[in-house]
Amino acid sequence: MHNVVIIGSGCAGLTAAIYAARANLKPLVIDGREQGGQLALTTHVENYPGFPDGILGPELIENMRKQAQRFGAEFKAGAVNEVDLTHRPFKITAGKDTYEAKALIVAAGATARLLGLAGEHDLIGRGLSTCATCDGYFFREKAIAVVGGGDSAMEEANFLTRYASKVYLIHRRKEFRASKIMIDRVRANPKVEVVIPAIVEEIHAPNGHVTGVRVRNPEGQESTEIALDGVFVAIGHDPNSTVFKGQLEMDSNGYLISNHGSLTSVPGVFVAGDVQDHRYRQAVTAAGSGCMAALDAEKFLEGHTD
Ligand code: NAP
Repeated sequence: MHNVVIIGSGCAGLTAAIYAARANLKPLVIDGREQGGQLALTTHVENYPGFPDGILGPELIENMRKQAQRFGAEFKAGAVNEVDLTHRPFKITAGKDTYEAKALIVAAGATARLLGLAGEHDLIGRGLSTCATCDGYFFREKAIAVVGGGDSAMEEANFLTRYASKVYLIHRRKEFRASKIMIDRVRANPKVEVVIPAIVEEIHAPNGHVTGVRVRNPEGQESTEIALDGVFVAIGHDPNSTVFKGQLEMDSNGYLISNHGSLTSVPGVFVAGDVQDHRYRQAVTAAGSGCMAALDAEKFLEGHTD
């Protein structure tokens, strides 16, 4: 029986773990499919307070993990595949292991979207990637594309010019969703060629590895072939909330609904980070909400000593 189980080891889950551990609650953190969450897949973080020169995402998340461990947080690898939140103690199952918890913090994050093209999933690791930090190194002196028009696409396009000989930034509309400073950086980068408006119709991989893409201009309908070795898909994320369907209140996109801080529709279950946030989605807001969830869980446990 655990006082607090935390689902997710991104910066929301780890901040919750630091606070819960310092409150002597000995939290158990279940890592989830992507240990470290999205920070583990990112590059330079320039807007996390306290690091005037920036810090690498993986380094920042590793520091948070060590900090939580220092105060007694316990970690288990694995992804949660079932929960029973109908009564306390809550039951959380990850693979063959089931854990019982007096309070639960859901910090399960969000997962990168794919384009939905045939065979796309099979090309992950064969020229297709959703993580520039993880895979950029494999594309030294190669031509690649980044697909998307948000801040992630801009950030990845810029970052990938460190390795790639050329980066095509392909976006389906003429207007970008990204912030102006990020767009300006991309436009000023001589290695980036912006291809807009353009929809990726097909990723060519005749021998099982990406060799090019065909894009269509949605206005003129003409198609263009681009020869390249890699495609980085940066088109947003989906909340990892499937396992909570029917048990926790969520919106039509699957984001969990939080009230009065981190409270969910089930007393004793708290939520933090990107699984409940489609608006801010920043490391610092995720960390802040993780802190809130731990404080709310601590207060809940004070009033429920059973
Ligand atoms: P996003 O802002 O939701 O942008 C997703 C982009 O992908 C949009 O341009 C969208 O096109 C496009 N898209 C979505 N589905 C598509 C599809 N099926 N085919 C082709 N294109 C598709 O996601 P994000 O860029 O990952 O950013 C998420 C949040 O994190 C944002 O709040 C962002 O500001 C923040 N962020 C901040 C930083 C930073 O400040 N350093 C870095 C990364 C992310 P449309 O525009 O046409 O819808």
